[in-house]
Amino acid sequence: MTTPAGTTTGPLAQDEIVVVGAGVIGLTTALILARRGYRVHVVAKNLPEDELDQDWSSPWAGANWCPFSAEERVCRWETESLARLRELIPMGLAMPLPVLRYAATDSGLHNHWYKDVAKNYRRLRPDECPNGGVGVSFESLSVNAPVYLKWIEAQCRALGVTIVRGDVAALSDVVKPMTRVVVNATGLGSLTLTDVLDTAVEPIRGQIVLVRAPKVKRCVMDSSRSDVDPTRSTYIIPRPNSGGVTICGGCYEVGSWERKADSKLSRKILEECLVHVPELSSDGTVEGMDVIRECVGFRPSRAGGPRLEREDRAVRGRRVAIVHAYGIGPAGFQASWGMAKEAADLVSDAVLESAALKARL
Ligand SMILES: Cc1cc2nc3c(=O)[nH]c(=O)nc-3n(C[C@H](O)[C@H](O)[C@H](O)COP(=O)(O)OP(=O)(O)OC[C@H]3O[C@@H](n4cnc5c(N)ncnc54)[C@H](O)[C@@H]3O)c2cc1C
Repeated sequence: MTTPAGTTTGPLAQDEIVVVGAGVIGLTTALILARRGYRVHVVAKNLPEDELDQDWSSPWAGANWCPFSAEERVCRWETESLARLRELIPMGLAMPLPVLRYAATDSGLHNHWYKDVAKNYRRLRPDECPNGGVGVSFESLSVNAPVYLKWIEAQCRALGVTIVRGDVAALSDVVKPMTRVVVNATGLGSLTLTDVLDTAVEPIRGQIVLVRAPKVKRCVMDSSRSDVDPTRSTYIIPRPNSGGVTICGGCYEVGSWERKADSKLSRKILEECLVHVPELSSDGTVEGMDVIRECVGFRPSRAGGPRLEREDRAVRGRRVAIVHAYGIGPAGFQASWGMAKEAADLVSDAVLESAALKARL
């Protein structure tokens, strides 16, 4: 059975797709595959219950929709994902958010490619922008990353996806006699998987401070000083269904693995966020902010851009397709549905080819 797009949708009696990784990319891919009728098994070192583990990225995300790239395929993924994430608003899983976004130049706004995708997009006047930069306002949304991950996991399980904890040394280790395709959604794990060893994979360190501030109902993203210090970016993202938690960020330190939060940086982050959103504090001072905790997470980036491609390998004398889906860096949630759909399409193509090959034998 095929969809109009030419992908297989029929259930497979025995063949199994193994997804390695249970971050937003792995789980969303697993869910799409399960909805297409595949038998899906997920194995991952970290599962959605590991909310405070720094070994993976997904629970630390803002997680709002605000493009960081003008790369054509990423724009496509983000456009698709915004439509899917909007569908979660009535369920309370996503929250609509007005956004003010500032940058040093138009290239920092990624040349406005999303002006017709985001609602109510407007260029700001020079007098509305800080530091002599440029800016836009638009309607976006945020999701509560830890809650959302648990929701996708539950959707997967309801469709029969099996999800287990496991530390995988090599992708070939998960190939069992019934495995037709392996999806590699390991994020930074692709640096150390012994049959991937992708040295282009690198962390982008992000330090954030969680503040209880129920009055904050807007998002601000300010990278207007990035020409002076590219590691800095100030952002304020309220989290839906969180009892008023707002994420104050942040930094963007490419290649840094420093796990410990720097308290001086946290203070600076809070001061800068307060300038944009005074409602973060009861009295307009940092001391008047109800700080929950400071944290550090690592965005799973990749020099040269994310890897989404199929690689066919011989594993124990059998041809197995590996679909790589990692390296999305700062945009995993906002690109999740689009990237996962294309990963799922690569899986479907591989299954279809393999079935055609078998039929010819
Ligand atoms: C501070 C911060 C703020 C962010 N804000 C946003 C935002 O506002 N919007 C947005 O879209 N994105 C945001 N991001 C980025 C987003 O979090 C990531 O892009 C996204 O989580 C990547 O998902 P992933 O599934 O690729 O990787 P991960 O979430 O890292 O998942 C990788 C999975 O692979 C597993 N794994 C790795 N190695 C192995 C192995 N050897 N064996 C078994 N399992 C393995 C891990 O355990 C995990 O389950 C932010 C990130 C940070 C740190």
